[in-house]
Amino acid sequence: MLNETLVTFQSANCYYICGVMVNKGNKVYSVFNNKCPRCHEGDFFVNKGSFNFRGFSKMYENCEKCGLSYEQEPGYYFGAMYVSYAINVAIMVSVWVAFLVLAGSEFNVWWMIAVSIVLGLALTPLTFRLSRLSWINFFVKYRGLEK
Ligand SMILES: [Zn+2]
Repeated sequence: MLNETLVTFQSANCYYICGVMVNKGNKVYSVFNNKCPRCHEGDFFVNKGSFNFRGFSKMYENCEKCGLSYEQEPGYYFGAMYVSYAINVAIMVSVWVAFLVLAGSEFNVWWMIAVSIVLGLALTPLTFRLSRLSWINFFVKYRGLEK
C-alpha cells in the first residue's frame, strides 16, 4: 500500500521500508503490505491502492490462504479508532512543527488547523487501512502457513 513512497527495494520475501529491512514474520510487513496478520500471504483489503476512494475500505471476510476470519467479533474494528486517532494526532503535530519551522512562531493558528484538517481528510484512506491492519496485528500472531 505504501509501496510507491516508502518501499525502495523489494525481493521475494523482504522489503526495505525507509532503509530498514522488513521480513515476513515482522508485523510491520503485514501492516504496510496489506497482508493477513497470521500468514502474511493472503491480502487483507480487496483493493491494492490506498487511494482508491471508492473501495479503499473493502475488506475480505477471511484470509484466502489460511482462513483467518478478519472480523473476529461484531464491532471488532471499533478499537482501530484509537489507532486512527493517534495517527491523526501525529499528522497535526507534524503540521504544527512544519509551521514552526517554515513560518517561525508568528503564524495564524487557524491556517495550521485548516491545513491539519485538509491533510487529515486527504489521508483518510491511508489512515483507515493502517489503523485496521495495526489493530488486528495487536491481537493476531504470525504463524506462517502450516503445511
Ligand atoms: Zn492468512
